[in-house]
Parts: sequence; C-alpha cells; structure tokens
Amino acid sequence: MLNIVIFGAPGSGKGTQSARIVEKYGLNHISTGDVLRAEIKNGTELGKTAKSYIDNGQLIPDALMIDILASVFDSFKDSKGVIFDGFPRTIAQAEALKEMLKARGQEVSVMLDLEVPEDELMTRLIKRGQESGRADDNEETIKKRLVVYHSQTAPLIDWYKKDGKYCHIQGLGTMEGIFADICAAIDKL
Ligand code: AMP
Repeated sequence: MLNIVIFGAPGSGKGTQSARIVEKYGLNHISTGDVLRAEIKNGTELGKTAKSYIDNGQLIPDALMIDILASVFDSFKDSKGVIFDGFPRTIAQAEALKEMLKARGQEVSVMLDLEVPEDELMTRLIKRGQESGRADDNEETIKKRLVVYHSQTAPLIDWYKKDGKYCHIQGLGTMEGIFADICAAIDKL
C-alpha cells in the first residue's frame, strides 16, 4: 500500500493536490478537515465540539483526532493506499499514525512537504474565504492558524526527516508543475 502524508501550512495546496493524486493513483483520501466540516454540517456532537476549535483557529485535541482517523482508515476495504491530508498536525498524531499503521502491517511511504511562502498563503486563503465562504478563512483566524502551524505542526518536518520519510516539494508555481514534482516523488517509491 502507498500511504502518503501530504503536508504543509494552511493554503499550501494540500487539498487541491490530493484530489489529483487520488485520481491518478486510485488512493483513498482522508482529509480530517473535511471530516470535521461534515460533522459540523450534520449537527453532530463531534461537530459541535470541533466547531469551537476550528472557529478559533485551534487544533482539535489529539485523542479525538486519532480515534476519528483510525475509524475512517478502517472503513476502507481493499485499498491501494491512502493519502493523509491535514493529519498528522502534531508530533503525538505522527507517533499515533506510525503505531496505527504498524499494527496493520503498514507504514508511511512518504511525507510530501508543500512549501509556500507566508505572504502567498495569506493571499490564497483570503481569496478562498471570499470564494467558498469557509468560516475559518478570514484574516484573523488565518493568522491564528498560521501561528498554530509554526508552533505545533512545523516540528513534524524534522520528525519525518529523522524517520527517513521526508520529501520537499516546492509549492509555488503552476498546479500542473507542482503535481508533476509530486508524481516524480511518488513514482520513485
Ligand atoms: P483543514 O481543512 O485541514 O485546514 O482543517 C481545518 C481545521 O480543522 C483546522 O484548523 C483544525 O481546527 C481542524 N483540524 C483538521 N485536521 C486536524 C488535525 N489533524 N488535528 C487537529 N485539528 C485538525
């Protein structure tokens, strides 16, 4: 199985590139952000809890996220592989993912780090907020999410380097160009 972690700050293009990877390689896709937004839309208890964190630009507690991830992962049958989009976001989540995959005789194949400069992230997210109306894509919440990214999520870059899974992808350029770089990295696996 091909287990790909697509990584990067909010607005780095994880969702866009995941959709293309899914199409080309026939993988299952787990976007923890999409899972949470669906729960909010359906008015579930989980959705209510998640909303207070999301609206504040904060991360949902690790234990909750890890349970959600495992249950979505286990719902896939005869999977060729999975793309993890927006998970892990903390060291504890990365460790849990490693354990969860190990318990199922698997491992992360690669972590693709989409690197995009901060001013470009801001521009993209504000535009996305105007177009999609996503509640957390407003200037104040975006700033909080970027602070959270730098303090809690970016340390995963070194964690995956140490784990021998890290692959840098230049996230600035055309969508096609970035996708070509991603495919080159996947095809080397
Ligand atoms: P995303 O769509 O990936 O940008 O996620 C939107 C929001 O959902 C984040 O700002 C967090 O509040 C929450 N979220 C998504 N994935 C995670 C995760 N792995 N851990 C904690 N919170 C998450």
